[in-house]
Amino acid sequence: MSQSTIFDKIINKEIPADIVYEDDKALAFKDINPQAPFHVLVIPKARIATINEVTEQNSHLVGHLYAVAAKLAKEHGFAEDGYRAVMNCNEHGGQTVYHIHLHLLAGKTMGWPPY
Ligand code: 5GP
Repeated sequence: MSQSTIFDKIINKEIPADIVYEDDKALAFKDINPQAPFHVLVIPKARIATINEVTEQNSHLVGHLYAVAAKLAKEHGFAEDGYRAVMNCNEHGGQTVYHIHLHLLAGKTMGWPPY
């Protein structure tokens, strides 16, 4: 799980993605297989493989991902109706790309529980 992932190629613009936000610490782009009318992945540019690798030292990046998600939700008109912003961890959590990413899902009513 220490290798780079497809998301590094997106960060480095080696493969295309529909980028909706970028700054020095984070990138947000449309999910290639959207599960909601608006489905964006917000990722840190520095790779953290899973939530298990989030520490007191790098947790500011996770907070930043949520700040970006909130900004995008507001900009796209989803703040009032609501949305879901979640991260999956490892196999049981449904994680398939080992570079943490916040799924920002909006534009429909989400179900709960999420299975
Ligand atoms: P996970 O299952 O790890 O929580 O989420 C990984 C997400 O990345 C999936 O929703 C999947 O559709 C998305 N994804 C995987 N490969 C690519 C890609 O090359 N481009 C984009 N835009 N999304 C991808």
